[in-house]
Amino acid sequence: MSSYESACHYFENAATVMDLSPNMKKLLLTPEREVKVQVAMKMDNGEIATFVGYRMQHNSARGPMKGGLRFHPEVDAQEVLALASLMTWKTAVVDIPYGGAKGGITVAPKSLSPNELELMTRKFVDELQDVIGPDKDIPAPDMGTNAQVMAWIVNQFEKYHGFNPACVTGKPLELHGADGREEATGRGVGLLTAAMLEKFGRSLKGTTVAIQGFGNVGSFAAEYVHAQGAKVVAISDISGGKYSAEGIDISAALNYVCDHRSLDGFPSEKQISNEELLTLDVDVLIPAALGGVLTHENAGEVRARYVVEAANGPITPDADRILQSKEIVVLPDILANAGGVTVSYFEWVQNRQYFKWDIERTRTELAKTLTASFEKMWDLATEKRIPLRTAAYLMGIGRVGRATVLAGI
Ligand code: GLU
Repeated sequence: MSSYESACHYFENAATVMDLSPNMKKLLLTPEREVKVQVAMKMDNGEIATFVGYRMQHNSARGPMKGGLRFHPEVDAQEVLALASLMTWKTAVVDIPYGGAKGGITVAPKSLSPNELELMTRKFVDELQDVIGPDKDIPAPDMGTNAQVMAWIVNQFEKYHGFNPACVTGKPLELHGADGREEATGRGVGLLTAAMLEKFGRSLKGTTVAIQGFGNVGSFAAEYVHAQGAKVVAISDISGGKYSAEGIDISAALNYVCDHRSLDGFPSEKQISNEELLTLDVDVLIPAALGGVLTHENAGEVRARYVVEAANGPITPDADRILQSKEIVVLPDILANAGGVTVSYFEWVQNRQYFKWDIERTRTELAKTLTASFEKMWDLATEKRIPLRTAAYLMGIGRVGRATVLAGI
């Protein structure tokens, strides 16, 4: 099943519980605008390279559209559209005044030189500059992009529109970025994991955790749960996984990745594969890398009691059903990883007010926003006896639907 079919499936599940009319369903599923552009450029060696870029603008009923830009070889129109719709529900679940969008270029960024990466980014902005902007659609980092890419985006956008820091979030601190944005998604994953465990009379202290993916999201999540006393027994990246029954030394792993750019060669008790990590006997499993990693083929083998979707769409609907039948609690992506876009919102607010918050304020507001949304989702799930994912979709779809009707169609 493709990521687009998965996204539609989860939407349908919630729409059925809500008894949403077919016409409303169609309206909420239909993207407002799909942009596909050619990004052509000269490479360092003088050869011409042509890439395909996308910006899918799913819904703006609650405000300007918001969502990341992904540079990855698997980027395609359907995937970006699925991710754009997830952003619509995500921003609504945490009740920040945005709609949802997503974009990307089908490219392996590591195959480009820094110069080529910059040129490709600027060319992409040339193509998109009239459909994005602080009141229209605000990009942010995602897989394969980072603060440096956001810096090039803001600089290129400003060539057309003048000083405009709020046109993109996840910027470097020196260019009006927000202190706390980089850690926000992983930190949010950590604090929501704690909130969920609390509902079961547990805490992070002594809880065993396996984290797939040690990039921006996985590494900050690992740092947070480790600091709260959890035992992170396994981590992984594209080079494979590391296991230690006594718990991995997370600061040593972070330093190692800083120096070597990957976990390859990091000493641990046992080398495991990414696939093995998913079925370890741990309390909490956190898939924080690619989508679609838990499928009908491996979901039956999952031994964790809780799965926290730090990545976007890591569980296919088939796998979701299997996990449900095993009474494994799933904290859904549209809340679990919403810390990133929440602090993106704080960055945008600061940019628009020309007023900088300190990191403590950001952390406090982030915790407030995520905890309030979690409590609401939990109560709804308990009251209606539905999975947390369905409850989160109910909140998101409900808010977008009501905004649409109130504004008038
Ligand atoms: N790419 C992140 C996400 O999937 C962040 C989006 C944003 O900050 O706008 O939620």
